[in-house]
Amino acid sequence: MKKSIRDFDLNNKRVIIRVDFNVPIKDNKILDDNRIVMSLKTIKYALDNGAKVILMSHLGRVKEESDKNSKSLKIVSERLSELLNQEVIFINNTRGSELEKSIKDLKNGEVLLIENTRFEDLCGKKESGNDLELGKYWASLGDIFINDAFGTSHRSHASNVGIASNLESGIGFLIEEELDKLSLVTNNPEKPFAVILGGAKVSDKIGVIKNLVDKCDYIIIGGGMAYTFLKAQGYNIGNSLLDSDSLDFCKDMLEKYGYKIVLPVDSIVSKEFDKDVMLKDNDNFDNDDIGLDIGDKSIELFKEKLSECKTVVWNGPLGYSEIEKYSKGTKEILKYLSEKEMTVVIGGGDTASAAINFGYKEVFTHISTGGGASLELLEGKVLPGIDIIDDK
Ligand code: AMP
Repeated sequence: MKKSIRDFDLNNKRVIIRVDFNVPIKDNKILDDNRIVMSLKTIKYALDNGAKVILMSHLGRVKEESDKNSKSLKIVSERLSELLNQEVIFINNTRGSELEKSIKDLKNGEVLLIENTRFEDLCGKKESGNDLELGKYWASLGDIFINDAFGTSHRSHASNVGIASNLESGIGFLIEEELDKLSLVTNNPEKPFAVILGGAKVSDKIGVIKNLVDKCDYIIIGGGMAYTFLKAQGYNIGNSLLDSDSLDFCKDMLEKYGYKIVLPVDSIVSKEFDKDVMLKDNDNFDNDDIGLDIGDKSIELFKEKLSECKTVVWNGPLGYSEIEKYSKGTKEILKYLSEKEMTVVIGGGDTASAAINFGYKEVFTHISTGGGASLELLEGKVLPGIDIIDDK
């Protein structure tokens, strides 16, 4: 069990909190402040308990000097200040005397935000490459380190693993909640247990399939990745997505686990992307058809299998759901699951966006905030940003 922020006396301590403020920004405006809002519980707890709070986060990727203009956290500090209803001291640097002096002057209950940690990637990927000197330097600025950035916890960076290697550490409330809820599907899930997979590429989901295939009762597959499985069964998939490198894997899985793999029986197809749509059975595809959503019979088949289940985890949309005409499968299955009394965990990334955009933000057991991180947990991997945190 990892130490949590609750296990420390924070009063009068310099507490470094690694948060995930990687928010979408366009024309100097924050398009969605959800990630800032999600960090508030841990930040407020630290402030209420008398800590001097030092916040760190990355924002996008920083590859060249000019990226600094659009990737500054200044605008985030302004939004955070509104949300906390108190001043947030923003330091437009990731190291140096101004930063050090401001931290020295920080009073209990005050909060400071350091500039985008990835500015350190400009000279030799110091942040993303977990430069040892940088991790040590950042650790020297605090007394306690709290990691609350679940979305980057599958990466070994200076701002998580680097600092935690040099300082007493714990997890924040957001990571605690993620681990708690994701363990419902990774740790003896209540059976019957179904894994729903979709999205574009089979190769991205091979690790999840391998890790969960023996533990689950059904693997229900939709989205672009379903067509490589259908091709492996001998169907003509027209111009649908094909992940040729994964064809042998699909054949192997179907041979060994065909009895628990559920594939679409029909699809919404178009001859050209975003043009007229038709509903076609698997054996009816023309050479120029592109399968872009599961069809009505598949929706019914998926519901039938899900009706037996007590636990469901879902990663990857069942069609090209960003476009209305290919979103029915994803919407119908979301609606069906939302009406059932069962544990439903939605993986991060596109699946989380679909669930939230289609109105199911508060309905399920959990919607993960980390795409890559939740996928790696489902693959059975250890997340370095969490593994490094002190045990209780
Ligand atoms: P992934 O990151 O692998 O989970 O893939 C998510 C992306 O796959 C989303 O942008 C979906 O719109 C896309 N996708 C889902 N179904 C299909 C499909 N049938 N054909 C092409 N792309 C799809």
